[in-house]
Amino acid sequence: MKIIRTPRAMTAAMTALQRRGRSVGFVPTMGALHDGHLSLVRAARKRASDVAVSIFVNPTQFGPREDLAKYPRPFARDCRLLREAGVRYLYAPPPGAVYPAGHETYVVQERLPARLCGAVRPGHFRGVLTVVLKLFQVVRPDLAFFGQKDYQQSVVIRRMVKDLDLPVKVVVCPIVREPDGLAMSSRNVYLSAEERAQAPTLHAALRLGRAAIRAGERSPRKVLGAMRAILAAIPGASIDYVSAVHPDTLEDVRTLRPPLVLLVAVRIGRTRLIDNWIVR
Ligand code: AMP
Repeated sequence: MKIIRTPRAMTAAMTALQRRGRSVGFVPTMGALHDGHLSLVRAARKRASDVAVSIFVNPTQFGPREDLAKYPRPFARDCRLLREAGVRYLYAPPPGAVYPAGHETYVVQERLPARLCGAVRPGHFRGVLTVVLKLFQVVRPDLAFFGQKDYQQSVVIRRMVKDLDLPVKVVVCPIVREPDGLAMSSRNVYLSAEERAQAPTLHAALRLGRAAIRAGERSPRKVLGAMRAILAAIPGASIDYVSAVHPDTLEDVRTLRPPLVLLVAVRIGRTRLIDNWIVR
């Protein structure tokens, strides 16, 4: 696996591949890799002839009181996992290579980022969209792989790709979970043993909501209320949102008629967890 540190060297490596008729599948990450990330790598290996992964803890998507400094960075372990997964190219630039002094251009969307996570993390999606566009410019992938785990992120990225006519196909892959249902996340390591034991309640709340909808319940107030009640019972939890939204517009639905997406975001202690379920 080649580890590449500068945009220029990465673009040179990728264009050399594409000149040889190879297709590039790209998996952007912030590292601290787990099986959710590796499922994206496996999907990319199936659909592209070469896989490029990036590891970049993107400062512009963290709020001033968020966990940028303490975000886990087990780089040697990540490299080993990627090598074992058959990744040929790792792009791991230092922050100064992505945002050199004087950087002041950002990607801003009008409406989608104001909802859900964006409402509680102002500026987050501006940072995400900016870095993803910059990574696309450098890597020039044929296909790019994202996880449904970050549902709103997948929607804003698809929107940007359409709106800016970017020549890349976005593929969104299913959520990978721990055996007890907790969605895998690099942030799960922050949870204490007691918090970790409570964390599968997010998944349980989504299952409850899905079961009610499948049984024919159509009232968001009733279903979201029941979900909220079991989340509120987690000791030390504070709920950011429990929502049922249209899959593309992210607007709240007025009646629970599929297709829709149930989403939850909960802080347990100091750790913010998100999860979602697409009801088709
Ligand atoms: P991150 O390193 O958290 O920025 O995540 C990088 C990519 O992995 C994003 O597209 C995430 O949606 C995806 N991802 C993170 N956790 C999971 C998971 N449990 N299952 C599937 N994809 C995931």
